Amino acid sequence: MDLEDYVHSLPKAELHVHIEGTLEPEMMFALARRNAVALPWASVEATRAAYAFTDLQSFLDLYYAGAAALVTAQDFSDLALAYFTRAHADGVVHAELFFDPQTHTARGIPLATVLDGLEQGCEQARVRFGITSRLIMCFLRHLSEAEGFATLAEAMPALTRIHGVGLDSSERDQPPAKFARLFARCRELGLHVVAHAGEEGPPAYIIEALDVLRVERIDHGVRAADDPALLARLAREQTPLTVCPLSNIKLCVFRTLAEHNFKQLMDAGLKVTINSDDPAYFGGYIAANYVETARALNLTRVDLKRIARNSLEASFVDDEAREPWCFLTCLAAFFSLGVIAGCFFSSLLLCLTLPMILLLVNTRTCACAPSIGSRAQDSRDLAQVRAGTL
Ligand SMILES: [Zn+2]
Repeated sequence: MDLEDYVHSLPKAELHVHIEGTLEPEMMFALARRNAVALPWASVEATRAAYAFTDLQSFLDLYYAGAAALVTAQDFSDLALAYFTRAHADGVVHAELFFDPQTHTARGIPLATVLDGLEQGCEQARVRFGITSRLIMCFLRHLSEAEGFATLAEAMPALTRIHGVGLDSSERDQPPAKFARLFARCRELGLHVVAHAGEEGPPAYIIEALDVLRVERIDHGVRAADDPALLARLAREQTPLTVCPLSNIKLCVFRTLAEHNFKQLMDAGLKVTINSDDPAYFGGYIAANYVETARALNLTRVDLKRIARNSLEASFVDDEAREPWCFLTCLAAFFSLGVIAGCFFSSLLLCLTLPMILLLVNTRTCACAPSIGSRAQDSRDLAQVRAGTL
């Protein structure tokens, strides 16, 4: 089994993907035509040619311009389903999607339109691929905390449809503590909390995200390596980091993948995961991130299994949903290593029993892991969604 096949065979969760960042130029132009929206580029080729970023802000300027093509619930549904189709091909069994309501409400698109469309895409992905999902509403950190509270107020009637909140957009000079009261309120409401920190910002922003926002995961967090005490703390507390290697190269956080500190973080004992961030803009979905990082940093198959398993453990699903995936991750790794070691009988046994195990586990996974909803009420919420009462 070659590296690509092995990576695809590993059941994994994607925990850091902005759904608006999966908008490929072809779909952007199709949606712009459908909605009679003007784009700043003349063609798909010209759009791709503009993807030469020098930092996070240069990317965000394009990202917000492209998002203007998204108008109707059908657009958001099509976008989500297109992402899930790619994610399924990459071996993703569960995805926690970031979305930026303020990017859309500022253009007059109601939050309910965004949620309706994304939920529809999530549900179609569950039925078609067996992929489960969660929605994480991100606040734009270049806006004010008051504007974040206004967005939260708009989301209140739909709170059971949102699983958690995050913090994204420009990091420089936008410390997490700026949103202390907003995140405290979100925690009171029972929402999971995560935040981008330590991508371009200093290690102090990671510490603020942990101590002030009290996040459960750090998105990016690669600058933790600049602070040995923080590195030791993250290893001790096993706070997951959702690292996005290809994004970091495209946005010049590291010059090359060979210079990326992912292996350093992993060797220091941190719970690191690999994700795609904004794959339409950064040149690769999750499997490409795994494969290219493995090649550049000489990650072993055992390392890759550990990373995939980290992603499942760091997800916001319950143990009942997680366990079958973790089992399949171990099975995929064992099968791969078994072939390499020439364990003929082990492989034969697995070949004979794998279809039956997959059938049993897939049936159990689809039955116990709903794709949308919130926390403890997921099953009830899903039933309500199906009944059209949520
Ligand atoms: Zn991100």
